[in-house]
Amino acid sequence: MKPDNWISAFTTGNQPLVIAGPCSAESAEQLLAVATALKEQGIPLMRAGVWKPRTRPDTFEGKGIEAFEWIKQVKIQTGIAVAIEVASPRHIQQALDAGIDVFWLGARTTVNPFLVQELADALKGVDKIVLVKNPINPDLSLWIGALERLHRAAVTKLGAIHRGFSSIQNSRFRNQPLWQLPLELKIRYPELPLIADPSHIAGNREMIFEVSQKALDLGYDGLMIETHPDPDNALSDAQQQVTPAALHTVLANLRIAGRHSDNVLFRNQLEHLRERIDQMDQELINTLASRMKLVEKIGDYKKENNVTVFQLERWNEIMKTRPEWGQHANLAADFIKELYRVIHDESLRIQTEIMNQSETRHEAP
Ligand code: PEP
Ligand code: MN
Repeated sequence: MKPDNWISAFTTGNQPLVIAGPCSAESAEQLLAVATALKEQGIPLMRAGVWKPRTRPDTFEGKGIEAFEWIKQVKIQTGIAVAIEVASPRHIQQALDAGIDVFWLGARTTVNPFLVQELADALKGVDKIVLVKNPINPDLSLWIGALERLHRAAVTKLGAIHRGFSSIQNSRFRNQPLWQLPLELKIRYPELPLIADPSHIAGNREMIFEVSQKALDLGYDGLMIETHPDPDNALSDAQQQVTPAALHTVLANLRIAGRHSDNVLFRNQLEHLRERIDQMDQELINTLASRMKLVEKIGDYKKENNVTVFQLERWNEIMKTRPEWGQHANLAADFIKELYRVIHDESLRIQTEIMNQSETRHEAP
């Protein structure tokens, strides 16, 4: 999957792509107020939900095709490009008829491969930018699958939007970011633009800046931020929308780092530090290999003595002592626990393999 670079049409230099605008299109006045303010800030792309996927019935479900008349007017008056969510082939047809520039698939659509395929079929041969929000559950394959279905339908102007993942765990986020998932997507598809949606990740205005900064620090290509002239009275997602003035403050305060630097001193230092890290990683791997050799020996003894591979007391002891040792060395307890979970998994795998061998292995003399 190698999408086109469409993003440079909307940004310059190191600047992230910004898509701002209301959660939902509510009225001609609302859209014009936002679009005018965005244009003043040099933001060329506005979002506005026309159909809203709502969790419960009897809540505001978007203004539907009535909103297209307002959008058309705003486009003529301000020249802004407009992005909307589409969730059915009918939506796509109506949005195409209305001259919408950018489409996105919502989190509740990405989870459904049947529906994504129908949308991909409806988009065949259509030269539009299509963005795919992550599915509501933390399943990277589902996200990639949706992008692939679109790519196979010859949609080449693709992008991914990270809006966070539903969780039953208590969290300060509305949707947990689980940053490692979108980063894995970035590693696999470096050319696919990755856009953060701090509004749906945070779920409140106060955390928009923090989440946006984190995304930019991780090298994201853009931000989608819900912006409304009167957020408190918004018909959907009132708590997380910001005014155009607040958006301006957020964007003005973001630290935007380049991916590379031409500073020779910096590059030499970086190279030097990376060489040392390479050396340490080799030592780490050698140490791990020696540790696993001991594990093999233990596997042999357990087999000879007909003892189970998994020993709960030993596991509990490791999970107690290693994080403590880690803390003395200034390493986060969670990190050490995670690391030992992986190491222990591998030890169990090695020992199980030994158990399943027909003969006890004997070391070469
Ligand atoms: C939205 O962008 O307003 C929206 C409904 O988002 P999501 O699909 O991420 O829930
Ligand atoms: Mn919303």
